[in-house]
Amino acid sequence: MTVSLLARSIAESPTIRLNEEARLLRERGEPVINMGIGEPKNKAPLNAVLAAGAKLCTGDIKYAPADGIPSLKKAIVRYTEENYDRIVAPENIIVSSGAKQSVFNILYSILNPQDEVIILAPYWVSYPEMAKMVYGVPVIVTPEDGSFHPRMIDIERAVSGYTKAIIVNSPNNPSGAVYSDEFIAEIVGFCERKGIYLITDDIYHKLVFDGRRPKPAYAFTKKDLESSRVIVVNGIAKLYGMTGFRIGWTIASRRLVEVMTNVQAQTTSCASVILQSAAEGALLGLQSVVESLRLFIQNNRDVVMQELGTFTGLKVIKPAGTFYCFPDFRAYLDGSVAKTSVELSQFLLKKALVVVVPGKEFGMEGYMRITYAGSVKDVMQGIERIKWALDPNSPNEIFIGDRKLIRDWL
Ligand code: PMP
Repeated sequence: MTVSLLARSIAESPTIRLNEEARLLRERGEPVINMGIGEPKNKAPLNAVLAAGAKLCTGDIKYAPADGIPSLKKAIVRYTEENYDRIVAPENIIVSSGAKQSVFNILYSILNPQDEVIILAPYWVSYPEMAKMVYGVPVIVTPEDGSFHPRMIDIERAVSGYTKAIIVNSPNNPSGAVYSDEFIAEIVGFCERKGIYLITDDIYHKLVFDGRRPKPAYAFTKKDLESSRVIVVNGIAKLYGMTGFRIGWTIASRRLVEVMTNVQAQTTSCASVILQSAAEGALLGLQSVVESLRLFIQNNRDVVMQELGTFTGLKVIKPAGTFYCFPDFRAYLDGSVAKTSVELSQFLLKKALVVVVPGKEFGMEGYMRITYAGSVKDVMQGIERIKWALDPNSPNEIFIGDRKLIRDWL
């Protein structure tokens, strides 16, 4: 069998692979705690389920317009007005099968071969692979001061005549960092001056803690949507706990939406009408579900910070949003149990039955991404297991399920 050079160069999605490993272990009865995959555990909002059910019950499930059903687009217009203070037209919106497809279709629609996309580390695993999939070149900018906050000066240095776009994801997966309003203002201004697209992946935009209210990129451009370089990506997966419904959207100029619509029409035709109805239900239903999730996660964040604070030698920056944190585990990579973040993740899964994702996948070796979207009990037990496996100052006995385990490797 032969496969293309390009396809062969695309890395497996580490989070999806780890999730599968955890599922298989669970099936075998192993009490695995999954702090790997990024999804809240709450059930889909009732209004979303009812809307999808009602659509399904009509039995009239057909192709939809490639860019999304008009009623969902209307709900997105309203959402954008309420949450971004921007009035957009339905022609500025295209609905896709998840924000993941939105990002891919954007990159496909704006990049020529060898065009560059600036990606800010630590970054969501899929951005560099997607850039490569459309024959673009990912250019990674890493903050050198040990923070997770990018600096304009580093970005400006990385920009070349080939730079077509910069992707900004704040609140950030995997670090939980929320970029400052000043930075967003600067990067919007920079991109508009230079004619570079600014793709803001806002998928976590309401999962922000401690009363902070970051401003969206739109707040810093006076240009109308047709001439602005800002492209917004959002979706229902994270805020409503609806990862399996696979609905996301893009807001951009009419011209770009037209091109993206052609791309989508020739690939997947349209997102499923049942799932679009569910998304509409979520957007039009009670929004307190999002606030409840935010408060729940903020409490988990505090628990995680407290527990991680007791590790010897671990460095962790307090996340300001999302449901991830990204501690620096380099103190534990001296070779006694692992040398790399990938080895450490495998070690923790094998010995402690906890899934965490290696930092290497997010462009920062030595770090590990820990998701704290599960129950408080799982979060506490998960961190306790990691501590038991790694920290010689912790008790060397632990109960995992009904098994008493003794640490004999430190
Ligand atoms: N962007 C970021 C930053 C994400 O973390 C994720 C999901 N992990 C997505 C986009 C994709 O979202 P969706 O499930 O809607 O495709």
